[in-house]
Amino acid sequence: MFIRQWNTANQGEGGFMKRIDRRSFIVRAAAVTSVLALTNTKALADVDESDAVAVALGYKADSKKVDSSKYPNHDVAQLCGNCKQFQGKAADRSGGCSLFGGRAVAAAGWCSAWVKKA
Ligand code: SF4
Repeated sequence: MFIRQWNTANQGEGGFMKRIDRRSFIVRAAAVTSVLALTNTKALADVDESDAVAVALGYKADSKKVDSSKYPNHDVAQLCGNCKQFQGKAADRSGGCSLFGGRAVAAAGWCSAWVKKA
């Protein structure tokens, strides 16, 4: 009898257990959201020009410093910021690149894999 009354009082619509579940859910959702927000704002490490992949692709953080004798098709208007592989926003100074997963390239940079963003 007591258990039935307790269940009715505490687990029915709007009961104590429902409120606790809702409260726990909201607290946990807020915690997860905070962690995700921190993760998203965490800056990516910059690609080092001496990195093996960067060297192989001729990556330079400043497109003006690209060796034009080595890359005669390079144009100073070709920038990471307007490359199809660039994952940052147009106004970002740096952003991810699909060729350098988890690291950031300079928006003013360039590499030989540059492809114009559509
Ligand atoms: Fe920059 Fe594009 Fe090369 Fe990535 S693929 S480093 S965004 S030019």
